[in-house]
Amino acid sequence: MPDFLYVHIPFCIKKCLYCDFLSVTYNESLAKAYTDALCKELILKKDIAGQLKTVYIGGGTPSILPEECFGQLFKCLKNNFKFSDLPEMTVEANPGTVDKSKIGAMFSIGVNRLSIGVQSFNDDELRTLGRIHTSKEAEDAVRIIKNSGIDNFSVDLIYGIPGQTLDSWRDTLSKAMEFSPNHISSYELTLEKGTPLYEMIKSEETNPPSPASVASRCDFAKGGMGGFLANIKMPDEELILEMYGYAIDHLRGKGYEHYEISNFARHGFRCIHNLNYWDGGEYVGAGAGAHSFIRGFRLKNTDDIRRYIKDLNKGITPEAESTEIKRDDAIKEFIFLNLRKTEGISLAKAEEFGLNLPGVCRELIEDGHLEMEGDYLRLTRKGIPISNTIIISLFERLGLD
Ligand code: SF4
Repeated sequence: MPDFLYVHIPFCIKKCLYCDFLSVTYNESLAKAYTDALCKELILKKDIAGQLKTVYIGGGTPSILPEECFGQLFKCLKNNFKFSDLPEMTVEANPGTVDKSKIGAMFSIGVNRLSIGVQSFNDDELRTLGRIHTSKEAEDAVRIIKNSGIDNFSVDLIYGIPGQTLDSWRDTLSKAMEFSPNHISSYELTLEKGTPLYEMIKSEETNPPSPASVASRCDFAKGGMGGFLANIKMPDEELILEMYGYAIDHLRGKGYEHYEISNFARHGFRCIHNLNYWDGGEYVGAGAGAHSFIRGFRLKNTDDIRRYIKDLNKGITPEAESTEIKRDDAIKEFIFLNLRKTEGISLAKAEEFGLNLPGVCRELIEDGHLEMEGDYLRLTRKGIPISNTIIISLFERLGLD
């Protein structure tokens, strides 16, 4: 039985320009109806979960929910689920939606880990991303959390932002270090098709703007209206690799364990919930668009928030898709997820899939992209920055499409 629960809160104040997650504009009455429905779904699913080791409330912007909704959600969890000793209880929080009272209320009901979506401490970059907050507001939010006494919080950052330089990325990392977070996530910006950022960048590639229109756009953005700055080209691949390399070396130098491609933690502060995903473990998901992975099947709830609420009000589970993960896909997921961890792939587990990885990977090992230590095969420091290329090469060697 899965011991890991994910709960999705699909509301944000406003859509960020790069975002393709499931989220809609927050409105209080919809959020309350959604919380009621969520509790109904959790009750329907209580018997398919084991003793919960983690609860991860993600979004969207979960910290946008009113305190009473958090109270209702946690009461429902406590009344209906069994918990292991000291479960990890994470809430994703965004600057601009937290204050001292809300953080205090979250801790009093059992939240013991926060993941704060700072993304950057540079105002120009925040505007390019269309975030709702300034760097000062991000600092204030992290300070509130730090001063509230919680030591298990993650500062989440993005690199590879249009207009970002190596210096501004260094500044963002060093500002983050001032708060001495025990966990840092550092994700490369992915330009997702269909997002406003994607459309803008593609349109500027084919139709470069005149200097005058760039100047007026800068004035508009600096007036606090949001929007793009002068340089909205994606940084080139070399600069992105330099940013990533800098983060790895800098954070390792500061005593962080680089435990997953994009995640760094001080000893004892790895995210247990996410480790279960990378280990390929089972989990239960609740909320609109949430996935569950149980007994080899991936189940997905409807993305349609109103249908989600309607179905649950009628007592129906709001599942939209159920997919059996077949052997080849299971192997691909096993390799992809386990190689994301710096610990690597357990060769004993690989053998359970009938894989002889040392034989298949000989050239990648000789090239210095992979290495073996004990029972594990893992990416080297040289292989980590080009992990996707190495993983694809491994799939090809195994005859997987
Ligand atoms: S806060 Fe997160 S989920 Fe919400 S719009 Fe921005 S990127 Fe998307």
